Amino acid sequence: MSATQDFSEVSKDLVVSMEYELRVDGELIDSADANDLLEFIQGHGHIIPGLEREIEGMKIDESKEVFVKAVDAYGEYDPEEIIELPKTEFPEDFPFEPGTEVVMENEEGEEMSAFIEEVTLDSVTLNFNHPLAGKDLNFKVTIRGLRAATPEELEHDHVHLDESDCCGDDCCGGDCCK
Ligand code: ZN
Repeated sequence: MSATQDFSEVSKDLVVSMEYELRVDGELIDSADANDLLEFIQGHGHIIPGLEREIEGMKIDESKEVFVKAVDAYGEYDPEEIIELPKTEFPEDFPFEPGTEVVMENEEGEEMSAFIEEVTLDSVTLNFNHPLAGKDLNFKVTIRGLRAATPEELEHDHVHLDESDCCGDDCCGGDCCK
């Protein structure tokens, strides 16, 4: 970070505090208001790419409507991400309920979340598409705060809320989180 870094507009490595409303097909599906601002480090892929690109350069208290096509948000809907598996591949305590979100592990041991689409007598159909895949997103955002990320925040790649609750719900297990 250089001494000349400008904190008056959104740019890389700044912690952005933002109000937002997210509408899909005209319906409000997510929001953060003044009492519960969304905070993230700009330029690190913490928010969807299409939104991150559009807020670059915005000033404090500036508002903007941002339309993000599905491809720049949660991706296109992929029919090949719907997979039917025999029930025998699941543990007995598996929640065999359509609509339930489950976390599965792939062959590389990576966790992937899916929604149960259908359950029959002997099979389970899982949908690995994000619930917002294929959806165009309409955001209304207002920038409420900008500050430099600390070296520790940059190292952990997330915002520390304050001294007593540095990692919030998203604990990185670092020193700050003890
Ligand atoms: Zn941390």
